[in-house]
Amino acid sequence: MQAAPILEIVGLHKSYDNNVVLRGIDLRVRPGQLICVIGPSGSGKSTMLRCCNRLEEPSEGQILVDGIQIMHPRVNLNEVRQRIGMVFQQFNLYPHLTALGNVMLALKKVQRHPHPEAEKRARKALQQVGLEHKADSYPGQLSGGQQQRVGIARAIALEPKVMLFDEPTSALDPELVGSVLQVMRELREAGMTMLVVTHEMAFARAVADRVVFMDGGHIVEEGPPEQIFGAPQHERTRAFVSRFS
Ligand code: ADP
Ligand code: MG
Repeated sequence: MQAAPILEIVGLHKSYDNNVVLRGIDLRVRPGQLICVIGPSGSGKSTMLRCCNRLEEPSEGQILVDGIQIMHPRVNLNEVRQRIGMVFQQFNLYPHLTALGNVMLALKKVQRHPHPEAEKRARKALQQVGLEHKADSYPGQLSGGQQQRVGIARAIALEPKVMLFDEPTSALDPELVGSVLQVMRELREAGMTMLVVTHEMAFARAVADRVVFMDGGHIVEEGPPEQIFGAPQHERTRAFVSRFS
């Protein structure tokens, strides 16, 4: 029997006024899996991720995170959000705080760890992304790739059950992309469950357990990378992936 999903999306619909963005999304992410989501701009990838911690309100459907129905009227959203780490294209670090300070912030303010414990956890997270030696640097003193790795450290320090990445390397100069992807590979090897929206097709092909192709608010096709990139079943998938090869 397969392990119960950490993240389960069932019949997710989302509209903004008359603009229907998600038209019934069903997706499961099981413990330790890395699922990549690919698809053209405007297909609803970010909206789907943002619904998973209710940064956006779904119009219809169910989302379960670690068994918790996040649409339940009495759900503790603060608790739910601590189970989901999120990394965006933009790093959104506080410029006046060091790398260590940025990582410590939620550990202290949200999880209420006393300073020494927060610092211990933050240093461990910085070590996981290979930046323990930059703990005292300010974001302005770090490269884009290093800033994004601080963003990842900030998320993993809270020990989430699942990590959501929304095009984490899209804002980076090409030579900085590799270091961020490498950290994501290592996270995955350490057992983290991950849902990753990306245009890095080589990464998806090499690392993903499954690849989801979205278009027009639907999941058009989902399968192992060999299928999606090697033998896509749908014309739209074929047309999309052929642009990257
Ligand atoms: P993707 O991440 O695949 O590029 P998005 O989820 O960002 O797609 O957007 C899907 C569609 O939803 C787009 O047409 C976009 O204009 C629309 N959309 C996204 N966010 C909002 C919003 N806050 N208000 C209105 N429309 C939005
Ligand atoms: Mg997007």
